[in-house]
Amino acid sequence: MTLDLAAVVAWMSLYGAQLEVHKQHLIELDSQIGDGDHGANMDRGFKKVVELDPVAFASPSDYLKKVGLTLISTVGGASGPLYGTFFLRLAQTWPGAGSDEPAAQTDETAALGVALRAGLVGVQERGKAVEGDKTMVDALAPAVAAYELAAGQGLAVALRAAADAAAAGRDATIPLVARKGRASYLGERSSGHQDPGATSLALLFETACQALGGDRA
Ligand code: ADP
Ligand code: MG
Repeated sequence: MTLDLAAVVAWMSLYGAQLEVHKQHLIELDSQIGDGDHGANMDRGFKKVVELDPVAFASPSDYLKKVGLTLISTVGGASGPLYGTFFLRLAQTWPGAGSDEPAAQTDETAALGVALRAGLVGVQERGKAVEGDKTMVDALAPAVAAYELAAGQGLAVALRAAADAAAAGRDATIPLVARKGRASYLGERSSGHQDPGATSLALLFETACQALGGDRA
């Protein structure tokens, strides 16, 4: 089984390290259309996640649930509950969750697509954002759609397609006018700036390629 506890822990540890690298950039982006805390919020939350001891968890689902709860209690802002909800939904639907059957006997790649879709639905239920509102949904929704389209070609290809779509969605937030979150207070003046949440979300998929998809490029 590829999507086991070790793989998910590796994903979170890689993402935590990348957030440290990109912290200043995320702070700058959020300073332009928000209150400048997104980089610090995410870095603080995922530092706590990386500190979790994998030995304490029996399955990827157990671990992902703790990740979600940790993010809700430490990230704060709008993004804490949203990222938290994303990971709680992954916990409920991760390949192998709630079944005694080894996930290797099912199609793991398709099963991860179901989990990612559930994560997106959770974020949208919680934050009520749709595509085009200039939020993390603008990276997440195309990533999930691209993953589903490419799932027949295997995990590595599907994750690469998702990461590329997330990056394109992130870039496409630049001209948009924000309709949700703090940036929406700026109205038309939010146009011309890249959304910080879409930026951190694209990074999450990029690290998934490396940690879950075996993409070492
Ligand atoms: P805050 O805006 O409370 O300071 P952060 O700076 O940590 O929180 O996160 C801001 C990001 O959260 C935005 O860039 C946007 O991507 C995302 N966001 C804000 N509101 C929503 C929402 N309703 N739905 C989805 N994403 C949202
Ligand atoms: Mg902020």
